[in-house]
Order: sequence, then C-alpha cells, then structure tokens
Amino acid sequence: MIKHHPSLNLLAGFVAGDLPASVAIGVSIHSQMCEQCRDKIAELTQRLAIQEFAEMESSSFDDGIEDNIITSDMASMDFGNMIDAITADDEISEQAVSKSALIRIKDKNYELPKALNNVRMSNWLNLGKLSRSSLNLDEGPLHSHLLHIDAGGEVPTHTHKGFEITLLLDGSFEDEMGTYVAGDFIELDGAHNHKPKTIEGCLCYTVADDALQFTEGFHKLFNPIGSLLY
Ligand SMILES: [Zn+2]
Repeated sequence: MIKHHPSLNLLAGFVAGDLPASVAIGVSIHSQMCEQCRDKIAELTQRLAIQEFAEMESSSFDDGIEDNIITSDMASMDFGNMIDAITADDEISEQAVSKSALIRIKDKNYELPKALNNVRMSNWLNLGKLSRSSLNLDEGPLHSHLLHIDAGGEVPTHTHKGFEITLLLDGSFEDEMGTYVAGDFIELDGAHNHKPKTIEGCLCYTVADDALQFTEGFHKLFNPIGSLLY
C-alpha cells in the first residue's frame, strides 16, 4: 500500500501550475497511481476554480461596470453545473492521452508512465547494479532521471544539500526509515541520511537539485555514483 504522498504544498502547487516540470511530472505520475491524491487534486482544482471565479467577479466590480446587471447574472449561475463541466473536460483530455511506452532495462520490461511519453531521455548509463537515464527537461540545477537498481543493489549512505524526490515506479526498496512500494513519493532534504537498498530490484523516477553527499566510508570511491545519480 502507498504510504508516502506529495505534501499538500506540492499538490496545491501542481493544481496552480506553479511547479517545475520535473516535480509536476512526479506529482502527476503519483496521482495516476494514488486514488487518495487524485481526489485531493480534484478537490483543490475545484476550490481554485471557485476562487478564481470569485476574483474575476470582484475585479469586475472594481472596473465599475454596471454592477446590478453583473450581480443578477452571478445569481443565476449554477456553480454545481460549472464544476460538472470542469470534470467533464478532464475526461476528454484523459481520452486524448496516448498509450504508455514500454522500455527494456537489463532484460526486464517496464511500462513508462504516460506523463513521460513526450519527454526525451538520454541513453542508459550503467555502474554496477545502478543504471540511469537523464530526462531532458532543461531545468538548470534541477536534474531528473529514471534510476534502475538491480536486485540486491544499493546506493551508499548519502544525504542531500538540496532536496531529492524519489517516486518508486516498480519493485520495492528499503532504507533506515522503512520499506517503499510502487507509487510511494518520497521527499528528502539535507536533514535526512539514508542508504536505499533493494532486494527484488526497482525502477524510480528521481528529481534532485544538488549532487548527493556521501556521508560514510571512502567518499571518493562513491564520486562516480554521485555524478551518475545527479
Ligand atoms: Zn498519494
């Protein structure tokens, strides 16, 4: 069962269209996998629509245009119908989405989330049990990847100067804080130190805004992993 969800701040930013593309893609993929967040996004979308409508209404009054006529127009409007219409629009765009692409990594096939269909990705780079492909989103310090870890693989203990989002797409992994399953959306910052490892192997979507900081052992040995993962 999915236990880790995007924060309310991220969901609200997603609805308002304020998030960087890579983070919005992560929230979008998670919401396809998580009914709870889908419902929350629908609710936030409705709230935002009503709020924007109210702002439009008050700015019309500010313009000083025939107040009485506008008021009677507003009174005759049916908010329920308006919200139905918003939902209906969503269904139309849903049908227009093309089918998911399949990718093959280390002899395993994975269905890519639809949100990644039109994103250009680099070739896979491999280092031991780790493989990654970069997403070409051109977001400066914000780097996003697909990360594949073979069964029995792990990432050495590390922390982050900035933030790291890991969305588990397939398989499972665990760290000091628990076990994660497909759909889990994990947001970490410099306050966290972790050492993810996977028994069965996993495929993740990751976003980070700074290189990983390895915190134990022979740091320099891990530098290639650090640059592979950022
Ligand atoms: Zn969720």
